[in-house]
Amino acid sequence: MFKKIDHIGVAVNNLEESLHIFKDVLGMKCSGEEEVKEQNVKVAFLPVGESEIELLESTSPDGNIAKYIEKKGEGIHHIAFEVEDLDVMLKNLQKKGVRLIDKEPRYGAGGARIAFLHPKSTNGILVELCEHKSQKA
Ligand code: ZN
Repeated sequence: MFKKIDHIGVAVNNLEESLHIFKDVLGMKCSGEEEVKEQNVKVAFLPVGESEIELLESTSPDGNIAKYIEKKGEGIHHIAFEVEDLDVMLKNLQKKGVRLIDKEPRYGAGGARIAFLHPKSTNGILVELCEHKSQKA
């Protein structure tokens, strides 16, 4: 079950410069920064109501975010939905023929379990499904 839009991922060249824009210019608050080594990214979260903006900077020239910016420039990279039971949902989507980038959930920022769907299956939108730890506990 889809619960809400968890966050919108934005690919940026320079996290510090983008934080300056989102915090000091737009007036949002940053709730935390983290490096996710598995994904070669540094991320920062800016909560807006029930959802967040996730700024992503690549830590490696051949990381996904770096490649994305090279092709399409900075901008919205993915939309993340919070879901109730990620394992069940991935199995069901696979049965329906949805192409999955992650067949098994992996570790995401903030300790969430996440999985990406292939944009070819979702009208060109890179969809991230995430499940927060506290739900399972
Ligand atoms: Zn994300």
